[in-house]
Amino acid sequence: MDLKMKDIPSVSYILEKIDFKIEIHENYLKKIINETIDFYRSKIRNNEIELTKNQMVDIIVSDVYKKASSSLVNIINGTGIVLHTGLGRAPFNAERLKNLSSRLEGYINLEYNILSGLRGDRQIHIRNHLSSLCNTESSLMVNNNAAAVFLVLNTISSGGNVICSRGQLVEIGGSFRIPDIIEKSGACLKEVGTTNRTHLNDYENAIDQNTKLLIWVHTSNYIIKGFTKEVSLKKLVILGEKYDIPVMADIGSGDLIDMKKLGFKDELQVKKIVSMGPKITTFSGDKLLGGPQCGLIVGCKNIIKKCQTNPLYRIMRSDKISIALLDETLRSFRRNSFTEENLSLKMLTTKRTILKRRATTILKNLEQEIVRDFGISIVESFVEAGSGSLPEKNIESIALRFNPIIIEANHLSKTLKKSFIPIIGYINKNKFYIDLKSVLPSQIKKIRQAIIEVYSCIK
Ligand SMILES: *Cc1c(COP(=O)(O)O)cnc(C)c1O
Repeated sequence: MDLKMKDIPSVSYILEKIDFKIEIHENYLKKIINETIDFYRSKIRNNEIELTKNQMVDIIVSDVYKKASSSLVNIINGTGIVLHTGLGRAPFNAERLKNLSSRLEGYINLEYNILSGLRGDRQIHIRNHLSSLCNTESSLMVNNNAAAVFLVLNTISSGGNVICSRGQLVEIGGSFRIPDIIEKSGACLKEVGTTNRTHLNDYENAIDQNTKLLIWVHTSNYIIKGFTKEVSLKKLVILGEKYDIPVMADIGSGDLIDMKKLGFKDELQVKKIVSMGPKITTFSGDKLLGGPQCGLIVGCKNIIKKCQTNPLYRIMRSDKISIALLDETLRSFRRNSFTEENLSLKMLTTKRTILKRRATTILKNLEQEIVRDFGISIVESFVEAGSGSLPEKNIESIALRFNPIIIEANHLSKTLKKSFIPIIGYINKNKFYIDLKSVLPSQIKKIRQAIIEVYSCIK
């Protein structure tokens, strides 16, 4: 029964065994097979597994299949965080993607004026639409908001000073830090005020002939509470006008609608920010906006023109697929339509009563035995929007709570990740949760199927 080293199959033997179609280059496939064989060879050498020769071959073939398949797969987001950075941020509406695929097939007039035959500008597909939604003179789309902030800083403040409150020296996950970005842009950061309190005269005292920009950053992923003071954007703009220094607002996660009307506390509507008068406002296209990864710069025409002629723009310009996706996203902002077509907003605004109904549907269609053994119940929860868009965790939601009696919660969580569609939930106090805020309605049935699948494997 015991496997000997000489029984370990060869690469060519495994290659022959792979009768299914794997669409990758043979060299890569061989590399994967080699690595997999090596992995099991060392396991056997260390006496870590006992297998028959046939079992060994089966395991290797199945591992190779997994490793050779696309690693980017569809999943169920059960974290409750609608704008989850790890899970692709803004969820996308498949219907909208389908519309796009026929328009994008082959060639498109990305930078070509069809009638005149002259070279065009890719920004025109977005510019007027975005500018009018934001009520600005002009706009510019780049690869992400980090790039947007960097491009503006480099364009208007390189070689000079940028003044920023110490309360707004934000770090977003993944190494985006306002002080570092300012430094790398070629400008010099002049910090003013303190962590909790900054006054208008702190800014005013710091202004000198080298001051090129006043920056106001939305503290998108934290809240400073208690003895605090922040200078409003409006007041900062008035100060900027007094000294003829432009003000830029980086709001991180701008929205094109009034989130307050939808019951949210925070105010990130781009139009309202713009009405306070900053020369430039920057925000992400894939946070509350619900579009593809991109950064949007809106505001004064002159500055935007300078940004677009900056050689760095070429490094940051968006590709045709993102441009088309943003176009589709902007089109979703019609009266009565955005909450249907814009998946991010749709999920964020789905009411608890509806989520509860979905949870009930899942439970109703499961056998009692499964509900009991997995200890499944429906509980009320609170979630955050994610991606530092609305920092407080105060959005009402519903979750399925698993307090299993036949398996550890941890193990259940791991097993659900391996089901036919990986489900990513979270563990809290030894219980496993799938929050329905971030689950698409079309995935509700799949959750039930995955639970049944996992149950039958464990039993
Ligand atoms: C998220 C965020 C950024 C970075 O935006 P990306 O689109 O992730 O590049 C910059 N500034 C603020 C305030 C943010 O919230």
